[in-house]
Amino acid sequence: MTENNNNEFIEDNELTLGLDTLAVRAGIARTSEGEHCEPIFTTSSFVFDSAEQAAARFSGDEAGNVYSRYTNPTIRSFQDRIAALEGAETAVATSSGMAAILSTCLALLKAGEHVVCSRSVFGTTSVLFTKYLQKFGVQVTFVSLTDYDAWENAITDNTRLLFLETPSNPLCEVADIERLSSIAKAKDCLLVVDNCFCTPALQRPIDLGADIVIHSATKYLDGQGRCMGGVVVGREEQMDEVLSFIRTCGATLSPFNAWIFLKSLETLRIRMQAHSTNALELAWWLNEQEAIEKVFYAGLPTHEGHVLARKQQKAFGGVLSFRVKGGREEAWRFIDATQMLSLTANLGDAKTTIVHPGTTTHGRLSDEEKQEAGITDNLIRIAVGLEDINDIIADCQRGIDAL
Ligand SMILES: *Cc1c(COP(=O)(O)O)cnc(C)c1O
Repeated sequence: MTENNNNEFIEDNELTLGLDTLAVRAGIARTSEGEHCEPIFTTSSFVFDSAEQAAARFSGDEAGNVYSRYTNPTIRSFQDRIAALEGAETAVATSSGMAAILSTCLALLKAGEHVVCSRSVFGTTSVLFTKYLQKFGVQVTFVSLTDYDAWENAITDNTRLLFLETPSNPLCEVADIERLSSIAKAKDCLLVVDNCFCTPALQRPIDLGADIVIHSATKYLDGQGRCMGGVVVGREEQMDEVLSFIRTCGATLSPFNAWIFLKSLETLRIRMQAHSTNALELAWWLNEQEAIEKVFYAGLPTHEGHVLARKQQKAFGGVLSFRVKGGREEAWRFIDATQMLSLTANLGDAKTTIVHPGTTTHGRLSDEEKQEAGITDNLIRIAVGLEDINDIIADCQRGIDAL
């Protein structure tokens, strides 16, 4: 058996193998040493057999490694594995989730073009569109995530991308990817989905008609809060442009981080299922508490996005939010009374995190924008981790006791 038989089997059967198999075995680059675990290639450059080969590698006539800003076997393994999991042709890794979004935009947009973006996207994504891309002549229109007429009406002759996250942060609104995909296709636009909250373990936007999927690998793909990274997946036609941009601008993922993500993907589905199970249990518990005004989690049948989430996702994910009775003072009191939960804005970690969106993640919004986005003073977000659910609930009980 040659060293590559395993890989050939995986590549030849990629379309029929289960997600769990691809998560463990897709994209392995084994060296002649025969190591079983994926190796890390910590090298900035690669040597060539001859001057002729060097020329062929540089021109792209011969496939192979050149320089780790744009070719590295560990990064390629991570890219191949995430592309397999998303059911995409190919992937390009980046130094962070924001680098993935920026690279996609700068590779595919030019001055005079237009983007329609959900109003409920990651705060820094909105800043990228309004403060920076507008400076270079790219216009943006924000619309409500679930107002499909608004999406359609916002599209102009110059619109090139539709950009969204579903479920949204922090209110867990759910958008119909298939429906937005037909709107995008009818107007010749690309549909870009930031799939950070679900990951391919729970939702595969490309199967639903999305053209490009973006991840902050910093979150659930790592899953243990260790390092920054991002990835863009889609068709070769667009990804070649994104890779060319990364090669030029240098927002490259570190091979070490790529290796961490690669190993984390092996447990992605098991983790996402456990996050979802814990979150659902916490949501039901919070829902029964007198001191809680409203819980936002698509797993609750009362949530507006529940039916759609059941159809489009395999589970409801790890993030939920809720309003305590009262205002900012009560919300802060709840947060400060917890003893185990980590008070931090990160999410997608094995450790449960708690945050007050109105004064942290969404603090840059004006009062009017907060009102529109539903970010009230009494809103708290919890990204439910993998601890024993009874201990998470007991900590939230401390929060409630302080109200
Ligand atoms: C965190 C996050 C990002 C940005 O990713 P970084 O890795 O922090 O740059 C983008 N989108 C969503 C939905 C996020 O949660």
